[in-house]
Amino acid sequence: MQATRAELIDYSGGYVVLRLLVRPPLRESNADPAGWDTSSPLLFTWDADRLERGEWVLHILEVLNIAALQPRHLAALGQLNLPRLDCYELELFDVSVADALRWAQRQYQALPVADWREEWRRPGLPTQCPRCDSERIVPIVYGLPLPRMYAASLKNVIRLGGCDVSPSSPIWTCLRCELSGGVLVPEAVWEHWLEQNGPRFCPRCESPCLVRVLYGAAAESPVASVALGQGMAFWTDEAPTPGAPAWHCQACGFETGLELPRAAPSSG
Ligand SMILES: [Zn+2]
Ligand SMILES: [Zn+2]
Repeated sequence: MQATRAELIDYSGGYVVLRLLVRPPLRESNADPAGWDTSSPLLFTWDADRLERGEWVLHILEVLNIAALQPRHLAALGQLNLPRLDCYELELFDVSVADALRWAQRQYQALPVADWREEWRRPGLPTQCPRCDSERIVPIVYGLPLPRMYAASLKNVIRLGGCDVSPSSPIWTCLRCELSGGVLVPEAVWEHWLEQNGPRFCPRCESPCLVRVLYGAAAESPVASVALGQGMAFWTDEAPTPGAPAWHCQACGFETGLELPRAAPSSG
């Protein structure tokens, strides 16, 4: 039988997508095959109409962290009736799905983790739901859902919280009874942030649109994500250089304050 054309895409951080270049199904299903290890980092997308007739026709296979793919997961893939693949761009011809993923494991960088779900573990979550006693408590992750976030939510490891976020947004939810709880940013922390960075007036145009500039990874803290969501901060992916501004006026573009002190003039 002829191999199916496929593409293997490496997004950063170990998130790898294997897409079969066939006509996309009208409806998709993310079901796991019978007896499948649900802790595996693999998310299948099948043709839902064919699946209803008992045919497992693969369309996409997402790997949530290629480093967490164990030999037993690859062996289990070998037991499924999956097509052989041609990935022209990578010069892989007539390979099994498991072999394509073994190749990706050798080629692509990923954070070395034993369990891909580690990325989504959050401190301070209850181990049991206080209402229904279920242990199926997952963190709520806020922000624009990146593909790997969306895949993790389909595997019920996180719940997507969306971009509408406030300091009092909950941080966990119970998958059984939907109770949610916790507070993203404790009141005292938020008030402290407002005191330091809250609404200010532009010294040039007097507009109240002066916002805090957040550099690089500074935007990853919960308090920063709330500030960004509420338009009180502005993010740039650059690292702050000496002399970089701490404040930016959204009305007139004036920049002020220093994120880092300017470098002292070098002597000699
Ligand atoms: Zn519950
Ligand atoms: Zn201004």
